Amino acid sequence: MSKENQPGTPVTLTFEQLKELLAAAQAKPNVLEQKAIDAELEKERKRDLARVQLAKIEAEAMQRKKDGCSHLRLPMSAGKLGGHAAQKGTPGAEWTTGGQAHSTELATLICTRCSATWQFKPTSAEYQAIEQSGMMGWRPPDESRIVRESVA
Ligand SMILES: [Zn+2]
Repeated sequence: MSKENQPGTPVTLTFEQLKELLAAAQAKPNVLEQKAIDAELEKERKRDLARVQLAKIEAEAMQRKKDGCSHLRLPMSAGKLGGHAAQKGTPGAEWTTGGQAHSTELATLICTRCSATWQFKPTSAEYQAIEQSGMMGWRPPDESRIVRESVA
């Protein structure tokens, strides 16, 4: 340790040096305060990150569930496999859907297997058909007609 670094050694500063030193000390936040601020900011950042990640995970899970269900089943005429899930495009497959019209403006179709729902405005012909025989086995509406959709 050099002599000038030893404790108790007097220091000589010019007025300008003292002014600079004081200005520098004032400009810097208290180290403990800064640590607390940094810790809070980090906590907030992690909370936001967790929120974003959670929302992303939920959205992905919803999409997977929706993608994982064809909303189709093999017809009873398929024999032993009748009623089992069918892949999209399977000839003779039936939609596993049901639903109702709430008004002439809004109908809800739901997949009875995965609970995905599609809400849309029925045409007057569709509305009459729903009134007469319900929506069992209806094909989900075209994307462009969907007012709202959800995956349970
Ligand atoms: Zn489904």
